[in-house]
Amino acid sequence: MKTTYKLLIFLLVNTTVYSPLLTGEGLGVRLSAQPLPQDYFRNPLNMDIGLSATFAEFRNGHFHAGIDMRTGGAVDQPVYAAADGYVARVSISPWGGGKILYIKHTNGYTSVYMHLNGYAGAIGKAVLKEHYAQQSYSISKIFAPGELPVKKGQLVAYSGNTGGSGGPHLHFEIRRGGAADLHTHSTTINPLLFGLPYTDNIKPVIRGLRLYPEDGKAINIDATNSATVSGPFHLGIYATDAAEGSTAKNGVDRVEVYLDGTLFFCYTTELLPVDSSRMVNAIIDYPYFARTRQAYLLTRALPGAEGPWVPIRVGDGIFRLKPGSTHHIGVKVYDIKGNSAERTLTVTTNQNTQNTPNTQNTPNTHPVKYDQPFNFQFSIFN
Ligand SMILES: [Zn+2]
Repeated sequence: MKTTYKLLIFLLVNTTVYSPLLTGEGLGVRLSAQPLPQDYFRNPLNMDIGLSATFAEFRNGHFHAGIDMRTGGAVDQPVYAAADGYVARVSISPWGGGKILYIKHTNGYTSVYMHLNGYAGAIGKAVLKEHYAQQSYSISKIFAPGELPVKKGQLVAYSGNTGGSGGPHLHFEIRRGGAADLHTHSTTINPLLFGLPYTDNIKPVIRGLRLYPEDGKAINIDATNSATVSGPFHLGIYATDAAEGSTAKNGVDRVEVYLDGTLFFCYTTELLPVDSSRMVNAIIDYPYFARTRQAYLLTRALPGAEGPWVPIRVGDGIFRLKPGSTHHIGVKVYDIKGNSAERTLTVTTNQNTQNTPNTQNTPNTHPVKYDQPFNFQFSIFN
């Protein structure tokens, strides 16, 4: 409730149109009322920040929990402690994050560095000792405070391409809370919100809009930006961002949808509860994503998938427009530096439009259930 209140304050201050119907908390919520420490963390690399992936990008079965920092196409770039603290955990695996370093900081946050090629100095020695002790390449070791203290700017590791990595880069996270493994129950926050120097003067791009009638096949909106409907529908938005020194297909920071000028849907991801990462399946058109790699963010969540993590939307995010009327649906997307792109869709309803009852309680026939363990069965999407 408290977070909702903060969100409403944010919407009041930051949007020109405010609807008292908007509620929600968790995923997609701004932290503005809860200031994050600025200038506490430094860029962990000695090069300008260029991103090959942004925070909370939509991935197969999870959100991208950090930022991917470019390392000039090379491995073994020096990685520096983002702030004072101590090495709290080292984890090494041939999969996932590969060689990972967790540093717990004096302000309670944890910084995480993944896909490393190796560890520096005393950390490297401690890791080698652990390989021998556990007689394994894959190790996980939690260190006590005082064992491996680090200073802000201290060389702690070398960047690499280990684990599930498609090229040399540094995956960097800033987390808060969590269990002793610094993962379970933790919350990951967009590192760029901690005042790290980052330049982006390039606008995001709205690459596609899809209109999903509640009782029919999805319609790809073409350049005419118009559609005629005969019943309730929801909308899907596919947008990407580029920045100086970054790839063109990064995720955007915020998506807003307006119905005739009034805010109808708002989605942003300043933070993510790590445990809820699989909820991505309920937020985007997942079967379409599995086929095309194009992530259409839906104004409506899966039936039955509502929870404390939902984006902010009016009601259930389904448009129910009066028969024989014309409406304008505005879509506006932003990157983290506030560069934006807009597109307006004109929707006309047939005279015989039936606004069928809320389908919220209809059986969930979607292949991915948010409240059950997820086993990806690719065949169901073919
Ligand atoms: Zn990454």
